[in-house]
Amino acid sequence: MNDNPNDGYMSGVLEVDLSAGTVRAVPLADDLKRLFVGGRALAVAMLFEQLSRNPNPAGNPIGDIDPVSADNVLVFCTSPTTGTNVPTASRIHLAFKSPLTGGIGSSNSGGQWGVEFKQAGFDALVIAGRAAEPALLIIDEDGPRLAPGPQADPEDVDAVTDAVQAATTKAHKIMTVGAAGRNLSPIACIINDRGRALGRGGSGAVFGSKNLLAIAVRGKKSVPARNPDGLDPKNISGSVFKARAKLRVGKVTKDKSQYGILSSMGTNGLMGMLAQYDELLHKNFQDNRHAESDLAKIQGEAFLDHDRVKVKGGACRKCPIACTRITRIVDGDGNVIARGEGPEFETVSLLGANLHIYDLEVITQANYLCNRYGFDTISIGGAVAALMEITEKVTATDPAQRTAAEAGLLTEAEPFVAQHGPIAFGNAGCLVPLVEAAAANAGLGRAVAQGARRLAERFGHPASAMTIKGMEIPAYDPRATWTQALSYMISPRGGCHLQGGYSAPLAFCAGYGEFPGNRIEGAALVTRNVCYQNVVYDMLGVCAFSGFSVTLDELANMVNDVTGSQYKASDLEQIARRCVILERLFNTRCGFTAEDDWLPERFFDETITVDGVETKCSRDDFSRMRREFYESMGLDADGLPTERTLDQTHLDEFLRRIGAEAPAPKQAAASRE
Ligand code: SF4
Repeated sequence: MNDNPNDGYMSGVLEVDLSAGTVRAVPLADDLKRLFVGGRALAVAMLFEQLSRNPNPAGNPIGDIDPVSADNVLVFCTSPTTGTNVPTASRIHLAFKSPLTGGIGSSNSGGQWGVEFKQAGFDALVIAGRAAEPALLIIDEDGPRLAPGPQADPEDVDAVTDAVQAATTKAHKIMTVGAAGRNLSPIACIINDRGRALGRGGSGAVFGSKNLLAIAVRGKKSVPARNPDGLDPKNISGSVFKARAKLRVGKVTKDKSQYGILSSMGTNGLMGMLAQYDELLHKNFQDNRHAESDLAKIQGEAFLDHDRVKVKGGACRKCPIACTRITRIVDGDGNVIARGEGPEFETVSLLGANLHIYDLEVITQANYLCNRYGFDTISIGGAVAALMEITEKVTATDPAQRTAAEAGLLTEAEPFVAQHGPIAFGNAGCLVPLVEAAAANAGLGRAVAQGARRLAERFGHPASAMTIKGMEIPAYDPRATWTQALSYMISPRGGCHLQGGYSAPLAFCAGYGEFPGNRIEGAALVTRNVCYQNVVYDMLGVCAFSGFSVTLDELANMVNDVTGSQYKASDLEQIARRCVILERLFNTRCGFTAEDDWLPERFFDETITVDGVETKCSRDDFSRMRREFYESMGLDADGLPTERTLDQTHLDEFLRRIGAEAPAPKQAAASRE
């Protein structure tokens, strides 16, 4: 194994206490490197340790922390591969206590920021406390430091980015939040590089609650690697050359000259495939029916030749796949009226197909606003869909039968409807104004900014919130793909497609073979294995899309060339298992139980047509799949690790070291707000 634990790592952790106004560098403990490596796994371990230190008389420091208080922390982690030649290794992972779910918050972003941060000399960044005045954190060759934030509209990501670059240099990469984060919206995200998002779970509200204006990073240091030859892209027997070759010919990842889906059309190139397998959501998951002529207006192919939305490709650092879409909207005379990054597949699905809005220009405008104000496009799409469904139902209800909450909704909606038309599926004219209202935290926008669960509860229709653990579900309809559904359920951070999912693309493009939509046998193992894979990507700071072509063994070879370790795929999977179980232990501290590993009831009660057959999920089958998933992970019937599992994963050792006791689910905090 590695006899120099520093290969792949920089100088350690930068700890920032905004309350005290201090920054200090501390080493990254060798046992953390050994047990968690980097990225997502390291971030959750450091978060667990940081929050466990919170003095708390009730003995449950993690569970009792208010996510938008000074007690919460943001833990950003790079990976040993970040900043090396490993393809796509540009990503940064963030762990925090989520204001949206009340449990583990975990989010990942590409772009340039993560590499610049690491090359500035650090592996991880911990931000605690709350600044008295808007603060700017600068990390560059002059050392890390806090400074007063320059004058800028703090609610506008572009304005803050411009002002901070004027105060530093154009080469600095900026991370900040917009109006959503400043207003502590639980669906706020953090934006880096203007158009990249640490999207899910409300990280933007935590950032905003810290009175942190922005973080500016620039780095020029090189990352120490054990076997630079193996990482040389020109060395035909090296690990990086082989991985790049696989990416060049992979079905999904090949380059534009070979009509690769991602390079030619961006992530939205996947939409047609999803629709073909009846997976694409529609009208808040009320059905999955889209007219082909409608989809043709918004799916990936529409980007290739659109009269108002013009697109060119781009890429995160060291990424040969290049799925980024840089877009501009032009008027009838060809003049540019707006420009930005995206929209991505999930955004087009949640703000388009989901809302029965098949207007790429409107969706792109809404996407630009979400980037500017810092909203997670999946979550705000889910919240708007819930609002549309509820409003349509209430409008159709006999006025004499309406509840006070329902009547209140229509009264509140009146001025908006008078200006923008009905809040109804298919009304493209109300989308941009609803995002604007959410950013202003005004009128109905205040409810939208709270996310689907709180919105639906407020108006008396909790069943219209298509959320898991309080997080809005992405674009894949669970009834059409049960492995995807299971992965939604068991995801520690809530309704998420990046935990064991990508069912259709993986099944049909990446050599996994065909998994019929409602297959039960083996579903738990497939979900577990894909879950581990996704953690490995997040842990190594590489893009999940690289997994369409590069195997875990090939990833292991590259990380070994960086660190001098001797990992095999199975070793990486065991670290992934450790990470997921620790995330579950975090959630247990926050009051989550096995009951939270469950789908919204709509998916058990209402059918959609899949391959010509009326289909819904079965409670018995999903109980069985959940039980089998737990067993495959070494969890008991309550979804908690057995003593043997704690021992096997060395989590008992970790928990002892940080002074956190073994799980006590029944004593966990009840509150998740
Ligand atoms: S595939 Fe796309 S998201 Fe992934 S690293 Fe490359 S450009 Fe970034």
